[in-house]
Amino acid sequence: MDDLIVIGAGLSGLAVARGAAAGGFSVRVLEARGRIGGRVLSHRTPAGAYDLGPAWIWPTMQPRVAALAWSAGLALREQAEQGGFLFQDAAGRTRRLAHGFPQEPPSMRVVGGIAAMVEAAAAAVPEGTVLTGHAATRIALTDAGVAVTTQKAGSETTFEAGRAVLALPPRLAAGLGFAPALPPPARAALTAVPGWMAGQAKALAVYERPFWREAGLSGSAFSDAGPLGEMHDATLPGEAEGALFGFFTWPPALREARREALPGLVARQLAALFGPEAANPRELVIHDWSREAFTATEADQDIPEAHPQYRPLALPPPWHGRVLLAGAEMAPEFGGYLEGALAAAEAVLAALAVTRPGLPSAR
Ligand SMILES: Cc1cc2nc3c(=O)[nH]c(=O)nc-3n(C[C@H](O)[C@H](O)[C@H](O)COP(=O)(O)OP(=O)(O)OC[C@H]3O[C@@H](n4cnc5c(N)ncnc54)[C@H](O)[C@@H]3O)c2cc1C
Repeated sequence: MDDLIVIGAGLSGLAVARGAAAGGFSVRVLEARGRIGGRVLSHRTPAGAYDLGPAWIWPTMQPRVAALAWSAGLALREQAEQGGFLFQDAAGRTRRLAHGFPQEPPSMRVVGGIAAMVEAAAAAVPEGTVLTGHAATRIALTDAGVAVTTQKAGSETTFEAGRAVLALPPRLAAGLGFAPALPPPARAALTAVPGWMAGQAKALAVYERPFWREAGLSGSAFSDAGPLGEMHDATLPGEAEGALFGFFTWPPALREARREALPGLVARQLAALFGPEAANPRELVIHDWSREAFTATEADQDIPEAHPQYRPLALPPPWHGRVLLAGAEMAPEFGGYLEGALAAAEAVLAALAVTRPGLPSAR
C-alpha cells in the first residue's frame, strides 16, 4: 500500500507526485490516457513540437512555471507579433491594420513545446510511479485510507493508499463513484466548475515557409466569421517551415455538425485572410478538446464567456483530509492556467505537510 495515490498525470498531478516523492512519500499516479500531460499536447514534425493545448506562459508574472522552465533549462521565445494584423468581419470581409494588440507582458512560448515542461516535471517522478491507461472509476474510504478502482482494457484493478489527490478537472472528479456517496452539495460544487478551455479546439496549419511574413504580416488575426476566431504565428524559431494556429470561435455543437467539412473551411478562411498560399498547408491538424472524455464533460460543451473565478475547494467529512483536490481549477491563484496547476499542487503538498522536498515529512 502506498502513502498517496494521485489521479491524473497532467501538470498538476505530476507536480504533486514529484513533490510528495521528494518529501519521502511512496506515490502511485493513475492516468486514464495512454500518455501523460492531459491538456498539454504537442504535434511533432521533423522541425519540432507545436502546441495543440496550452502554448503560452507569462514567466514575469508566473513564478512557478518560470522556475520549472528555468530548472529544466528550457528556452523561451516571445510570441511573434511584429507586422500587420488582420481583422475579418462577420461577412468575411478582411481589413489590414498596421499592428495588432500586443500582449503586455508578452506571451512566451517554450522551445520544444509545453510538453517539454511536462516531461521535465515527470522526469522528477520516480520511474514506474505513473500507470497510464488506468481510468479511475471509483474511490472508496477504507480503514487504512482510500481504495481507488480503475478500468484498463476492460479489467478492473484496485489500488490502496493512505490518501488520494484528485488532479483532474472538477467535473470529471464529480463523475467518479464515491463510497460513501459524496454529499449532493459537494458534488454540485464540483460540477459547477468549468474545465478551463475544455470546450475549446485548436487548428494548426504547417506550411513550407512563413510566407505571410514576406507580406509584412504578423500572422495574427481576429475573425467574427469563423470557423477560427483568433489566429497567431506558430512558426518554430530557426526553422524553415512556417505555421499558423487558431482557436475556434465556432462552439462545439457547430464544429461537430460541420466536422467533415471543418478542415476545408479552416483552410479557406486562412486563404481569405493570408492569401492563396494559405489554402494548401502541408499539414492541417484540428484538435478538439471538447470531444476528449478525459478533459471535457457534457456541461463543458457550453463555453464560459469569461475566465471563471476559480477558487480552491475541499471535500467535506468523511472525505476531508483523506482525498484532496488539485488541478488547475482548484488553484488559489492563476486558476485555469498552467501556473494554477502548479499552484494547486503546491497547496496540496502543503496540506500533506510536504514542506521541504527531499526530506521525509511527519505525517
Ligand atoms: C486549447 C487550450 C489552450 C490552453 N492555453 C493555455 C495557455 O496558453 N496557457 C496556460 O497557462 N494554460 C492554457 N490552457 C490551460 C492548461 O492546459 C491547463 O491549465 C493545464 O494543462 C491543466 O493541468 P491539470 O493537470 O490541472 O489538468 P489536465 O491537464 O486536464 O490533467 C488531468 C489529467 O487527469 C486525467 N484523467 C481524467 N479523468 C481521469 C480518470 N477518471 N482517471 C485517471 N485519470 C484521469 C486526464 O487524462 C489528464 O491527464 C489551455 C488549455 C487548452 C485546452
